Amino acid sequence: MKDENKLSRRQIISGLSASLAVATVGSVLPVEGAALSPEAAPEPLKDPTTAYPRPPFKSQTQPWPGLASKMDPVPDHGEKSYKGSGRLKGRKALITGGDSGMGRAAAIAYAREGADVAINYLPAEEADAKEVVALIKAAGQKAVAIPGDLRDEAFCKKLVEDTVRQLGGLDIVVSNAARQQQRQSIMDLTTEDFDATMKTNIYAPFWIIKAALPHLKPGSAIIGTTSEQATDPSADLYDYAQTKAATTNFVRSLAKQLAPKGIRVNGVAPGPIWTPLQVSGGATQEKLQKFGGDTPMKRPGQPVELASIYVQLADPQASYATGQVYGASGGAGMP
Ligand code: NAD
Ligand code: MG
Repeated sequence: MKDENKLSRRQIISGLSASLAVATVGSVLPVEGAALSPEAAPEPLKDPTTAYPRPPFKSQTQPWPGLASKMDPVPDHGEKSYKGSGRLKGRKALITGGDSGMGRAAAIAYAREGADVAINYLPAEEADAKEVVALIKAAGQKAVAIPGDLRDEAFCKKLVEDTVRQLGGLDIVVSNAARQQQRQSIMDLTTEDFDATMKTNIYAPFWIIKAALPHLKPGSAIIGTTSEQATDPSADLYDYAQTKAATTNFVRSLAKQLAPKGIRVNGVAPGPIWTPLQVSGGATQEKLQKFGGDTPMKRPGQPVELASIYVQLADPQASYATGQVYGASGGAGMP
């Protein structure tokens, strides 16, 4: 336990009376691990429509899988803003695609909430992964980096075994990695493309969850990253969109199967989010320049805006939430 989080009974009681005194402006019970002190200034209200960059964006392209650090503007994964309050203290998490995008935002948030975190990514993403490892360590947590290709069943099994060995257990699995390469026509989609998308987005979660299950105790959580594409597929994402429908579906099936074992399974369904996926073949340049502009929010989301959703779904306090898919699409509707 970090020293600043250690609260004596006297501190708790004196903090309690202080917060009761300010009850009219919103009291906060100072429990162990809480980051808020009674005298902390409230965060000013922030207009979400103007909080982050809006289109038009510069035309830009990177070879797949792309690096967050080379995007313009660089995405916000919560590096400077996410504040933890001990919600995942002592937990051990594996996050695939933890180097960038939503996986990175979840990794930073989990570490700041007190979890040790293992991330998987492709070897080409080492530069992004190094930054995430440094951020997890800066939060005072253990960081494990396991590069490798999830299209390989043997690697998926090894990933889980290495995570369990190096973290000393596993209680949160975030299956987040995915392949998205747009093709204007089904005629342009090769069998190799189709196979790579299915292997990454459907087979890998199957292999990883099977390998993880024997280690997951009651109270553990599995989280899948699905998409608004599951229910509202784009014309140029024939293969990708159907894998997201499959992800939403497996979340609901597995939730029913694992509820009696005390393991919760939930999904996050993002709308357009500013990540390397989109600049490395996931979207056309035309779509990229206007990215997110057609949502009611008139902008894309930033990965940090989904961090608290990944935390909420992993938090043991959300103990009755399973089989749920939580959307974050700037107003575009239900997942
Ligand atoms: P991202 O590029 O930052 O993350 C995807 C990650 O997948 C990569 O960082 C890479 O490490 C990993 N990956 C891909 N193929 C792999 C392989 N063969 N082996 C190992 N790792 C591999 O992009 P993101 O947008 O943060 O994507 C995260 C999740 O969000 C994905 O499941 C994606 O489908 C979903 N999603 C994204 C958006 C969006 O607009 N960005 C919208 C809806 C859903
Ligand atoms: Mg990446």
